[in-house]
Amino acid sequence: MLEPEIETLPWREQVRLDDASFREQVGYLLARSRFYRAKLGDAGFTSAAAVGGLDAIAALPLTEKNEIRASVSAADPIGTHVCAPASDFVRVYSTSGTTGTPSYIPLTRQDLDNWVVGSSRSYAASGVTRGEAIVSTYNAGPFVAGAALGSMDRIGLNHIPVGTGNTERLMTAIRLLQPTAAVMTPSYAAYLIEWAAERNFDLKGSSVRRVLVAGEPGGGEDGVRGRLEEGWGAKVTEAMGIGDIGVSLWGECEHQCGMHLGARGFVHPELIDPGSGEAIPMQDGARGELVLTHLKHRAAPMLRFRTRDHVEVWTSTCRCGRTAPRVRCIGRTDDMLIVRGVNVFPTAIREIVNGFSPDVAGLIQVRPTASGVRQEPPLPVAVELARGVEPAEGLAARIEKRIRDTLVVSVRVELVAPGTLQRSEYKSKLVQH
Ligand SMILES: [Zn+2]
Repeated sequence: MLEPEIETLPWREQVRLDDASFREQVGYLLARSRFYRAKLGDAGFTSAAAVGGLDAIAALPLTEKNEIRASVSAADPIGTHVCAPASDFVRVYSTSGTTGTPSYIPLTRQDLDNWVVGSSRSYAASGVTRGEAIVSTYNAGPFVAGAALGSMDRIGLNHIPVGTGNTERLMTAIRLLQPTAAVMTPSYAAYLIEWAAERNFDLKGSSVRRVLVAGEPGGGEDGVRGRLEEGWGAKVTEAMGIGDIGVSLWGECEHQCGMHLGARGFVHPELIDPGSGEAIPMQDGARGELVLTHLKHRAAPMLRFRTRDHVEVWTSTCRCGRTAPRVRCIGRTDDMLIVRGVNVFPTAIREIVNGFSPDVAGLIQVRPTASGVRQEPPLPVAVELARGVEPAEGLAARIEKRIRDTLVVSVRVELVAPGTLQRSEYKSKLVQH
């Protein structure tokens, strides 16, 4: 544990500290953020006293990414939520965005330091320790992932950055420099298993004992994790962040039972029903959309920010001793389809399909027939067969039945030949419209 006295602090003690931070943060927002002064004012909250503490946070309005975007103009290129002058910024990251214009994420020196501290706890939860060598495959570039690289220094790792999409360089580094850990997306980790098999590269016998995956859901699904652990001969743990709030906020420990909130003290998590926006109590097994609030942010703090991540949470203390709540990402709202009133996440379909290993390769692609979110059953799903395996009789029908029984959705499975579905050196596209 990187900071045992903080990471094992009883959660109720943390909430007490967070409550004080929250009250201070709300006062700061009302004093400095035009966006939040208007938003809170419209909801009837004109003073920090009226807002109250964390126990009353569910009464406050939620923040949607689109609202922030809508506040952007030539005069306010980042948005009107910004609280600090640009002269206080030490970094401005950006997200690629869907509209063509990037959205900017500014950080003060203290914000950046808090990000790195939280990210360090999340990554260290995987078990990597000072003196170990780790090879990373993220590009610093414009994206917040760059800040996660700072956590490698903080932990005291020997960091070997090889960047994205350079498999030869990565494998050469693994062969020659013998790192014990590697960090990448789960899609890339899966791609590398196939890459190595085709070239007789002994990945399983390599020096890598831990694979840290992040950037997309998957690492916490039994099927995906099992496949990666088998192919790499390594322990696989996952981490997760969200650009507007922080990098690798969450990190899984060696017990692999959900990602702990490494950014405890900096960020307050909540769950809501994505349809109604109603709060869902955080308790073992609860599911909903993750909503995050900054507690100590200075440049552009967010209040009740909707992450679009659907998660399952656990609040009981983990065997590792960390007291922070844990989450597992079930899927992204952006990937969700609604089939005759039922919400369907492609990641959930993938998890069920993976139960048919070794007949299947672990790759799926949902191919909706209609544009938009709403679909008529059966939902077409391409399932790739494993290499060198003759599929069992009636495989497609059995997959369809298990998906129907588990997710209450009717799908039509098309079995496709090994190598058909697109491999990714970054993130997988599970839905092809
Ligand atoms: Zn743990």
